[in-house]
Amino acid sequence: LRDGTGTGSALLFPMRDLCYGHGPMNVMALVCSRCQRTYPPGRVAQLCACGKPLLVRYDLERAARTLTLSALVRREPTLWRYREVLPVEDEAAIVSLGEGFTPLLNCRRLAEHLGVRTLYVKDESANPTGTFKARGMAVAVSMARQLGLKRLAVPSAGNAGGALAAYAARAGLEAYVFMPRDAPRANRREAELYGARVVLVDGLITDCARRLAEEQAERGYFDVSTLKEPYRVEGKKTMGYELVEQLGGRVPDVILYPTGGGTGLIGLWKAFEEMEALGWIGRERPRLFAVQASGCAPIVRAFHEGKTEAEAVPHAHTIAAGLRVPRALGDFLILDILRRSRGGAIAVDDEEIREAMRELAHREGLFVCPEGAACLPALKRLLAQGEIHPDECIVLFNTGSGLKYLDLWDSEPAQ
Ligand SMILES: *Cc1c(COP(=O)(O)O)cnc(C)c1O
Ligand SMILES: [Zn+2]
Repeated sequence: LRDGTGTGSALLFPMRDLCYGHGPMNVMALVCSRCQRTYPPGRVAQLCACGKPLLVRYDLERAARTLTLSALVRREPTLWRYREVLPVEDEAAIVSLGEGFTPLLNCRRLAEHLGVRTLYVKDESANPTGTFKARGMAVAVSMARQLGLKRLAVPSAGNAGGALAAYAARAGLEAYVFMPRDAPRANRREAELYGARVVLVDGLITDCARRLAEEQAERGYFDVSTLKEPYRVEGKKTMGYELVEQLGGRVPDVILYPTGGGTGLIGLWKAFEEMEALGWIGRERPRLFAVQASGCAPIVRAFHEGKTEAEAVPHAHTIAAGLRVPRALGDFLILDILRRSRGGAIAVDDEEIREAMRELAHREGLFVCPEGAACLPALKRLLAQGEIHPDECIVLFNTGSGLKYLDLWDSEPAQ
């Protein structure tokens, strides 16, 4: 375990000679998450010259003057309530379908059954397009609009494609979605209905990314792949702000998060670092556990082997389509964050995921996506192993709605 200052990939590097200044909002620079090189804000950006993701840096001292927990009470119930720590400068560029500020549900029946004191589900199924991908795309498409980009493209395991298509439609921009031929049916249908061009690819999200890259120069796509542009993670980080706001300024002890590309985890951690700088919280952090499917668990493997990067998984397979990500650009950040937080990584089987979908539905009335369901068997195992204590405040993330995965039940007769 390395300590937090200036080594490798703390998400908020100390910045000494920042000369860019800022606009009406608080964005100061884009900073490389690996080599700390800085780039001016307000221009089209993808990866750092070193090939790693850029992250947005804000003047948090300035943001803290108006962004206080008490000021939030009067703001709109969307992620735009955290405007001071979002990158959009031009209010007219904001593209919104009402994303964010999803319920944090206290699950007493499930908690009692598991023998734990406090268990919450952060229910992201309440987002537009039915998953938390809406958060990232709302911010990325708003920034694309502010920067004058017209033709947006994304490789997607499914839900990111649907979300891009929806926000592009609302913004009047073109969307191109590259998705695996066997992605959930709902994802293909929604993207087509939102007016995107859907390209079906034989293979996984990594093959979709390759196909997009092949066509990119000729067709002039702007690539909205997660972490290849700096703003989707900004949308996703608002989940962390909401958690703390909804817990009345407290930080939960443990978070279980279904991890594919890891943008959600990276966003959560960035939010906690920013909230400390804003004076909302102190140095306390939740322990973060990445949950993956045993048919595709590159982060779990790398974590337990003590590695700082993950190897690509061959023949990745799982019913949790959003977790079918054999290689993640932000792997080094995810692994670093899991270790800094003193959390961990755990894989569960598809059969356990199905069973958890049933259990969350009948115990709590939650029809969750398979990715979110994966957190429940993971929690059970971590409790049994003593890694999580029954008295701790535990949050599970349900990243989307089970309604987008009806194909999963096709082989089962309705009762
Ligand atoms: C994309 C996706 C995930 C994985 O999210 P990351 O933040 O990229 O790790 C989890 N659940 C669902 C429903 C998704 O669509
Ligand atoms: Zn770099």
